[in-house]
Amino acid sequence: LVVLDSVNKHFGALHVLQDINLTIRRGEVVVVIGPSGSGKSTLCRTINRLETIDSGTITIDGEPLPEEGKALARLRADVGMVFQSFNLFAHKTVLQNVMLGQIKVRRRNKAAAAEKARTLLDRVGVADQAEKYPAQLSGGQQQRVAIARALAMEPKVMLFDEPTSALDPEMINEVLEAMQQLAREGMTMVVVTHEMGFARSAANRVVFMADGRIVEEAEPHQFFDNPRSDRAKDFLSKIL
Ligand code: ATP
Ligand code: MG
Repeated sequence: LVVLDSVNKHFGALHVLQDINLTIRRGEVVVVIGPSGSGKSTLCRTINRLETIDSGTITIDGEPLPEEGKALARLRADVGMVFQSFNLFAHKTVLQNVMLGQIKVRRRNKAAAAEKARTLLDRVGVADQAEKYPAQLSGGQQQRVAIARALAMEPKVMLFDEPTSALDPEMINEVLEAMQQLAREGMTMVVVTHEMGFARSAANRVVFMADGRIVEEAEPHQFFDNPRSDRAKDFLSKIL
């Protein structure tokens, strides 16, 4: 579904993505882990073209990423993204937040967008919050709204960049559960996270990054129980 081939990116002198080759198959859950600054967020952001790349190619369903205009807006809808900060529109209600992109990008009428929004809010367990404004919700509720908003675009793939790291501990599980549910339903997902429990139970594959490179790629049990590289062993010894 998503193929990165020899992708390189620099920020000035910093070679932040070094010759990245990665294939994400339909229905797969790929968890990306690695030390701070290793390029995980940058990798995610290149997939929906929030960052450009210097060389290499990225394709989705065999098509190179569009560079601008309506095609780029469609790409951003096809590739749903959920960040650490929830990025909801503060002056719109929860329901309006989940309707907006559907109307603007997917060209749905208001009634259809509202119906879909309510269905998705129900699915992530915040249907009762629909008429509130984001600031009136807990962090965990806001993040579930952000997930519903991305899902409303019927994305081909969902990118999650540390979706729980800004949350209080008691709210982490409700967000992880919504993500687990999504994974079970067959959504293709790329998840940057420090939640190793989630990685073990939901991931089909773990990608370990360090210094802008993919150092190791393995099934979760293989990676956690028997990491091959010293970098991964060192990283795991610090976090587990
Ligand atoms: P973390 O776990 O802390 O989120 P990360 O693996 O997501 O880290 P990135 O955010 O991808 O790392 O950053 C990789 C490197 O690129 C870091 O050294 C960072 O300082 C640098 N970097 C990121 N964005 C920019 C930018 N817009 N301009 C310059 N340097 C940047
Ligand atoms: Mg990051």
